[in-house]
Amino acid sequence: LASLEVQPFPTVLEFPTGKTGGGHVLVAAGPCGVESREQTLKAARYAKAHGAGMLRGGAFKPRTSPYAFQGLGVEGLKILAEARRETGLPVVTEVLSPEQVALVAEYADALQIGARNAQNFALLQAVGEAGKPVLLKRGMSMTLEEFLMSAEYILSRGNMRVILVERGIRTFERATRFTLDVAAVPVLKSWTHLPVWVDPSHPAGRREWVIPLALAGLAAGADGLIVETHPEPEKALSDAAQQLQEEEFAELMRRVRSLVGAL
Ligand code: PEP
Ligand code: MN
Repeated sequence: LASLEVQPFPTVLEFPTGKTGGGHVLVAAGPCGVESREQTLKAARYAKAHGAGMLRGGAFKPRTSPYAFQGLGVEGLKILAEARRETGLPVVTEVLSPEQVALVAEYADALQIGARNAQNFALLQAVGEAGKPVLLKRGMSMTLEEFLMSAEYILSRGNMRVILVERGIRTFERATRFTLDVAAVPVLKSWTHLPVWVDPSHPAGRREWVIPLALAGLAAGADGLIVETHPEPEKALSDAAQQLQEEEFAELMRRVRSLVGAL
């Protein structure tokens, strides 16, 4: 169902703030994790002010360690909904299990499937039935064929609104957190009609490399970006080293507009 042979024209997803796919670029920005009302509202305001079309933020965090910050849960979903009311930005947030889908879908405009759940087939089927657009991250050890098969689990349940997100894969290189597979963008776009986005934050792992990776993704043809931002990154409870504060995000958006035009 994802194939260009089945649908020979790009899928365009429309949000109140903009479109993605078919030449339209949308940027989602916001904190790795929702940590407080103040932190999330601040991040949402500057996301909006500098041209983002979507707010991201994790309420349920899939942490490598069970002892690390796990997110605020339902309280976090409520904060995201408040940020949407104030800024008008649609919200994308991660869902970790099939049982959580109904709850998260009550608050979110789009559901994020994280890299660690990219082959959780029960979860993929559940978001396929939830009636909301899905941001599907590539698993860190997935081939592109496997990635598309995960998308098929969602599409085959009747949900055609899927965005594929390249977020970096595991290679032998340790200087960056993951290796952004820039080639995934043109390869996926030659195979599928679905929008393809790049997450430059997780592969960079450090804020100074986020802008070049974002621009590389867009230059390769990406239909959108999902970028981590935090009003005080040094205080972040997760992914502190890679989140952009306001001036850095503003610079990213200036560079994005100079590459792809107005958003
Ligand atoms: C995230 O977006 O904060 C996240 C956990 O991403 P990934 O699933 O790509 O690691
Ligand atoms: Mn993160």
